[in-house]
Amino acid sequence: MILVTGGAGYIGSHCVLELIRSGYDCIILDNLSEGHIEALQTKNFCKANLSNIDEIREVFRQYSVKAVIHFAASCYVGESVLNPQKYYYDNVINSLNLFKVMLENDVKKIVFSSTCATYGNPEYTPIDEKHSQNPVNTYGRTKLMTENILQDYSRAYGLKYTALRYFNASGADNKAQIGESHDPETHLIPLALETASGKRELIKVFGDDYDTPDGTCIRDYIHVNDLAKAHRLALEKMFDGADSNFYNLGTGKGVSVQEIINISEKITGKTVKKEITARRPGDPAILFADNLKAQTELGWQPQYLNIEDIISTAWHWEQNRKY
Ligand code: UDP
Repeated sequence: MILVTGGAGYIGSHCVLELIRSGYDCIILDNLSEGHIEALQTKNFCKANLSNIDEIREVFRQYSVKAVIHFAASCYVGESVLNPQKYYYDNVINSLNLFKVMLENDVKKIVFSSTCATYGNPEYTPIDEKHSQNPVNTYGRTKLMTENILQDYSRAYGLKYTALRYFNASGADNKAQIGESHDPETHLIPLALETASGKRELIKVFGDDYDTPDGTCIRDYIHVNDLAKAHRLALEKMFDGADSNFYNLGTGKGVSVQEIINISEKITGKTVKKEITARRPGDPAILFADNLKAQTELGWQPQYLNIEDIISTAWHWEQNRKY
């Protein structure tokens, strides 16, 4: 049994789907504070809080857990700066609770959901795993702290981990009824599509005076099914005896905010009204991944290399969403 914390969330639910499609049994632990009951891809579900160590112990008592994939976290950059206490508790303390119960039960394999936000402002692009990690916001710091904790636990207790540092997760599985649904929504692609569908009047473009070809920020949008597959591959590599490690997950291609808006208009056939506003604090001009390490060591190859294909799946979800 694979324990997936945060398995009712956006990336977590796609990962459970990938594991189940590959023949694994999963148990989901989620408190549904951000996750959605409709997103559950298995009946094995425990509504539990990682903040309550006894609730975690109960899950491990009920199920024979072989390995853990840990998604459950708070993940709004802006909120993390305004309310750091919530983030240090939700992301660091709760992870410590989980790791403690894993060690009590001699479960020593974990895939950890990390982020390119642990790198901070890029010193060079594309960003490889050797890039220094100097996060510029609390969210990134809590994820880096958890990576550091895992590094110490790996050395001291033999708790093997794979940290996966995602770039911009996007898209949805076209066959399952799951997709991105945050409250409030802050991410570019869903906002552009909600504007196209008339749910929003306009989208704010955070700055058009960056040193990029069209002046807007460039990011690396990686399809959520490609992310999910990387988790399965990382898990399987650890089952084969691999040591602790960390990988960037991105396509290696950068796309600008303006390009996302143009392609959203093309796919939806609707106008996406925009307003240019001030830069968002903490936004680097260009972020994209060097994903060679994940390709060569995990045997991971992203399937969605074309941003139009990614946005098409997000549009399919936007038109059919149940939550
Ligand atoms: N962005 C924007 N308007 C929005 C939301 C995002 O211009 O309403 C820009 C943001 O500045 C960044 C890119 O879109 O350059 C992706 O932002 P998002 O919040 O989706 O992901 P992040 O890169 O912050 O993880």
